[in-house]
Amino acid sequence: MTDTPTRADFDRYMVPNYAPQQRIPVRGEGSRLWDQDGREYVDFAGGIAVNSLGHCHPVLVDALKAQADKLWHLSNVYTNEPALKLARALTERTFADKVYLCSSGGEANEAALKLARRWAHDTHGENKHKIVSFRQSFHGRTFFTVSVGGQPKYSQGFGPVPGGIVHGEFNNLDSVRELIDADTCAVIVEPLQGEGGIVPATQAFLEGLRALCDEHQALLIFDEVQSGMGRPGTLFAYMRYGVTPDILTSAKSLGGGFPVGAMLTTDRIAPVFKLGTHGSTYGGNALGSAVALAALEYIDTPEVLEGVQRRHERFREHLDTLNSKHGVFQGVRGMGLLIGAQMAPEYEGRAKEILPLAIEEGVMALIAGPNVLRMAPSLVIPEADIDEGMARLDRAIARFVESA
Ligand SMILES: *Cc1c(COP(=O)(O)O)cnc(C)c1O
Repeated sequence: MTDTPTRADFDRYMVPNYAPQQRIPVRGEGSRLWDQDGREYVDFAGGIAVNSLGHCHPVLVDALKAQADKLWHLSNVYTNEPALKLARALTERTFADKVYLCSSGGEANEAALKLARRWAHDTHGENKHKIVSFRQSFHGRTFFTVSVGGQPKYSQGFGPVPGGIVHGEFNNLDSVRELIDADTCAVIVEPLQGEGGIVPATQAFLEGLRALCDEHQALLIFDEVQSGMGRPGTLFAYMRYGVTPDILTSAKSLGGGFPVGAMLTTDRIAPVFKLGTHGSTYGGNALGSAVALAALEYIDTPEVLEGVQRRHERFREHLDTLNSKHGVFQGVRGMGLLIGAQMAPEYEGRAKEILPLAIEEGVMALIAGPNVLRMAPSLVIPEADIDEGMARLDRAIARFVESA
């Protein structure tokens, strides 16, 4: 008995940079999870937009097991078949000609930002190094990516930040016009801001960014770590907008739960990453690549992508019904299966309080900042699980409103 870990062990043995919920899930299947006591939950959190096919989807389990028996890792001194297949599949399905593989979203963005800096340095000279990013954006936790991200609380307190980074206002093109100039090497943006509160870019904003980048010979980077891989109802969000970036980053749903990231770019830009300019020991390892390839081939089909849109509507209907009863939200937004419900003014800053109540009622959800309840479930969540999870969320919110 004493061998079974408890939540208290977290506080005892782990660096206190997280505050996980009290319950410890031990098993998952599809969109359901079970904790140490055998209690069952509907999963609307999806490991923060990661478990794109739910838990232990047979297609991913089979890919993982088959590869586990063959070959795990070689280093980049050798290449491997799964990585080559994944890179080919990603280029065939997107604007990209070339792919760099890594193990997380932060690493994919680190690579994207270094590539943009290097490209500008090699083609235009030293001065072209400025990066335009946006307030409330999130691009990862490496020191470069937190510095580029638009949430100062994540980058402050670590000493001097890298220079040449400026932040405009998301969905405000004028703010970009004031910042962009001949020294700008890149504009980095999430087509759908995730951590910043599930805020989709407007069509005019992304089109305007594309035009401004072209005018100033800067690269347009789309961070689709959260918004991509089927979640918007298309393979990537840029496809919905019809605005093509120069560099795109993917992770989260790409591996369906296995740590994988990718940076996609074009033949115009890729060559500046010459031999030795950048790298990662685990990037493109056979195991991760095999799982990501299986996820990509499964997700990028009309059945799954149309299913995402259908499920989006079902979530919306439930949220509208729930809200007409309880009046906790002032609006619902998002795309596909990345959905945010903004708290009404009287519940300002209190989205977080819903989560433990939801867990007690048997449903797992997320927040995106203090004012938004977020849902990022499996792209193939059964409709019955949506209904059941929403019934549980309804009870949790009734309790939240009572106690408020
Ligand atoms: C989660 C996230 C990242 C960071 O990904 P990690 O895998 O945690 O490094 C970067 N960008 C966006 C938009 C994200 O949502």
